[in-house]
Amino acid sequence: MAKTALITGATGQDGAYLAQLLLGKGYRVVGTQRSENIAARWRLEWLGIAEEMDFVQLEMTDSGQIQRVLDRVAPDEIYNLAAQSFVFSSFEQPIYAGEVTGLAVARILEALRNSRAHARFYQASTSELFGNAETSPQDEETPFHPRSPYAIAKVYAHHITVNYREAFGLHASCGILFNHESPLRPPQFITRKVTQAFARMTAGERKPLEVGNLEAARDWGFAGDYVEGMWRMVQQDRADDYVLATGACHTVRQLIEMAGAAVGRQIDWRGEGPATEGVDGKSGELLVRINPQFYRPADISLTVGSPAKAAARLGWRPTIGFEELIGMMIEADLKRLKDGRFPS
Ligand code: NDP
Repeated sequence: MAKTALITGATGQDGAYLAQLLLGKGYRVVGTQRSENIAARWRLEWLGIAEEMDFVQLEMTDSGQIQRVLDRVAPDEIYNLAAQSFVFSSFEQPIYAGEVTGLAVARILEALRNSRAHARFYQASTSELFGNAETSPQDEETPFHPRSPYAIAKVYAHHITVNYREAFGLHASCGILFNHESPLRPPQFITRKVTQAFARMTAGERKPLEVGNLEAARDWGFAGDYVEGMWRMVQQDRADDYVLATGACHTVRQLIEMAGAAVGRQIDWRGEGPATEGVDGKSGELLVRINPQFYRPADISLTVGSPAKAAARLGWRPTIGFEELIGMMIEADLKRLKDGRFPS
């Protein structure tokens, strides 16, 4: 009989790719959604899978609803991807971040412990747990030093998941995932913000891209690769925690240069610090400027992960490199602008 997977946050980037993967493996996939708003399913429409899934309504702050959803869906596997996932916003809404991204995980685990279903559980942990780590690359043994309300909520979610595994024997795993991107990334995240801006400039818009810290460095992979890793974790006989990362690191400055190159623009940098500007090497047009409003109150300078454990035990490896990823995102942004069919 086909397995049933319940994905919380199915309308998000990872939810969409994971649903696609699981449908391809013959699962019945049930996605949770905060409201009945069909428009919020646009990522699933983009992948052409919205009609193949079932949906249930779930607001992560509602314990009663969580229990009802588990009882009704009776999943074999639960992938908890729902979160208030934008680090910057969590500084504005720290209590909400704590509720949705942290405490809600205890609500699901508690519902799981009280239910007759023996579902396996996946928790979306994050490299933000490491914050300003003292060692590099970071792996499963690196101590946590969270630097945002989002990351602090995720630390709680991570530990409560490990605790339910140890205390109650639940098959509960945490994937400590480094940044992963795609054409389905929301535009407030830096990679999509950059690719979208260059696509718009290519379409004739003359509004410069505004960014914060150019030297922030991240380990960026492709979301499609990372959902494969999530699934592999859940299939293991023993639940455990794994880092998924590419092991390579790029700065925001390099990201911008690469996105510019993908649309035939060479960026020349001038000035320093908040006065830095990026101009078109040929025309001198202003393409990039710094807006200190986008500096995080507490930033992380560099994160890079070691996926060695996932490679050894799960046989997991990223397949898409950074340049290919940025090219893929630009291409999708250009297509969206041309068709006007999906939100850009
Ligand atoms: P997205 O922001 O794209 O998706 C988040 C999902 O959570 C959306 O479906 C959103 O629904 C839902 N959600 C938010 N608040 C609530 C709420 N109160 N009740 C119910 N649902 C809610 O995130 P990603 O897909 O990129 O990430 C998936 C998970 O992985 C998240 O937990 C994220 O923190 C984590 N993660 C992501 C990384 C990345 O680089 N992408 C790296 C490491 C971890 P709606 O559409 O209604 O807003």
